[in-house]
Amino acid sequence: MHTFLILLAAFTTAISSPDGKLKVGLSFPESTYSVEYEGKTMLEDSPLGLTANFGDFSGNLTLTESHRSTIDESYSLNRIKTSEVHYRANKFIAELRNEAGQKIEVEFRVSDNDIAIRYNIPKDGDTGSVRVMSEATGFRFPEGTTTFLCPQSDAMIGWKRSKPSYEEEYKADAAMDTVSGYGHGYTFPCLFHVGDKGWVLVSETGVDSRYCGSHLSDCKEGGLYTIAFPMPEENNGNGTVEPAFALPGSTPWRTITVGSTLKPIVETTAPWNTVEPLYETKHDYKFGKGTWSWIIWQDASMNWDDQVAYIDLASEMGFEYILIDAGWDQQIGYEKMEKLIGYAHSKNVDVFLWYSSSGYWNDISQSPVNRMDNSIIRKKEMAWLESQGVKGIKIDFWGGDKQETMRLYEQVLSDADDHGLMCIFHGCTLPRGWERMYPNYVGSEAVLASENLIFGQHACDMEAFNACLHPFIRNTVGCMEFGGCALNERLHRSNRFGTVRRTSVNFELATEIIFQNPIQFVAITPNNLTDAPAEAIEFLKTVPTTWDETVFIDGYPGKFITLKRRHGDKWYTAHLDAETNDGYVEVSDDK
Ligand code: CA
Repeated sequence: MHTFLILLAAFTTAISSPDGKLKVGLSFPESTYSVEYEGKTMLEDSPLGLTANFGDFSGNLTLTESHRSTIDESYSLNRIKTSEVHYRANKFIAELRNEAGQKIEVEFRVSDNDIAIRYNIPKDGDTGSVRVMSEATGFRFPEGTTTFLCPQSDAMIGWKRSKPSYEEEYKADAAMDTVSGYGHGYTFPCLFHVGDKGWVLVSETGVDSRYCGSHLSDCKEGGLYTIAFPMPEENNGNGTVEPAFALPGSTPWRTITVGSTLKPIVETTAPWNTVEPLYETKHDYKFGKGTWSWIIWQDASMNWDDQVAYIDLASEMGFEYILIDAGWDQQIGYEKMEKLIGYAHSKNVDVFLWYSSSGYWNDISQSPVNRMDNSIIRKKEMAWLESQGVKGIKIDFWGGDKQETMRLYEQVLSDADDHGLMCIFHGCTLPRGWERMYPNYVGSEAVLASENLIFGQHACDMEAFNACLHPFIRNTVGCMEFGGCALNERLHRSNRFGTVRRTSVNFELATEIIFQNPIQFVAITPNNLTDAPAEAIEFLKTVPTTWDETVFIDGYPGKFITLKRRHGDKWYTAHLDAETNDGYVEVSDDK
């Protein structure tokens, strides 16, 4: 009898993908999982578990029951990568008990190239809520793996103490024991090259007001990276770093995308497979392109005449939108803004307006400030925006990744939808499944975006290298509001001073295909109508911003990328080359 109990306690099993190539191995009570693809080890035994405020589930978990089932469902996406997704996965739920006999579940969903993992915590007795103190969840890579990672920055540094904002430089093909730039690990998504065996992309999805945004630690012993929570200093020290939610409840999904090539990484739908829309909208949000003066003409252009010039430019291009950036409330004023918005409408151009998120978490003076962080003021502001027929807002300078900040994102999105407003976030975190979760979410920066090309020559010199990273990493898991495709040779209003663009016109045009966001604010200027190649202007007039299909053709992160995207019955094949700073786009009708 005694022996029998011991046999029950030790448990190993495997979960395979529908095509059988991807396998997750599980061991309890060791509380580890491992990942194989086509018989090759992609992740070695990696820890599972968490520490809750009421119990330790960080290891030594005994399996008491398990459930297997299959998932076969189809869903639509209308703003990123592909329009129809057929998600087939094998689902496995392990019911586990810790040494104190308390229950937790770990849930796996394994599709052909994606693994999703989360913890479900039941309501056990009277305890109605949990505070998660830390997670043991880790990812242990085989020796010789190289990394393509972006460091998490210190908190409360940078412009007006507004970081972290996912605006750091990547290191490509670095050894695992490379120390991250700030010693705080790495922001999602994280790309790993497991030698000649293949590639692994680690990220997370389904993060809403009920959890914090997490990231990966620096590499610990033996190739192990673990889930890390935000830093206490984020959000000006306000709000806890330990997320809390009501029971029963679940943590967000951690996703692992695996392939022998980069194709599954570039084509993954992992961020959307396991999430659902959080509310329905009654609005019919229209995606498209827009102009914005701030990117090249900068702060001084927030005046009537310059905005009229950019409304006229949008109208001339047939673009749907103008984005009027920081400073409009002071340099133009609310009263004249109503007339300016009216002028835009008379030219068939709709309007996005800029806001700061602040707040008590930075020193931002770009205005409007303190309109979006307070629900009483926010409602009043959004009612005014709706009364003026404004279609969207760009909210900048967020406080970090704490649950406190995730709540504010969700409150702003939910309130904005009540007023028919789309939301773009800058100075912000990575979107985590938000393209499907929030009907009015239309993009995030969370990248060293086009503004850096104006701020310094280094970004121009690195533009092609960085552009060849994004389709494999940042942009493959979420909308990326880059605001690029500058056609000025010098990134300055005069086109004669300022930083020098290193890339070709064709390279810039190809980024309109490679970088995906359903609303593309294009960095063209009124002079480009006459000084840029006529074919470039014609291309920008017609290029779509949403896609029915995305197909990876070839590439290597930081070196080159070739992919094609379909919009309706047209295929757009785009290529970027970091060595030559050149690229191309080919448009074809063939199916
Ligand atoms: Ca920024």
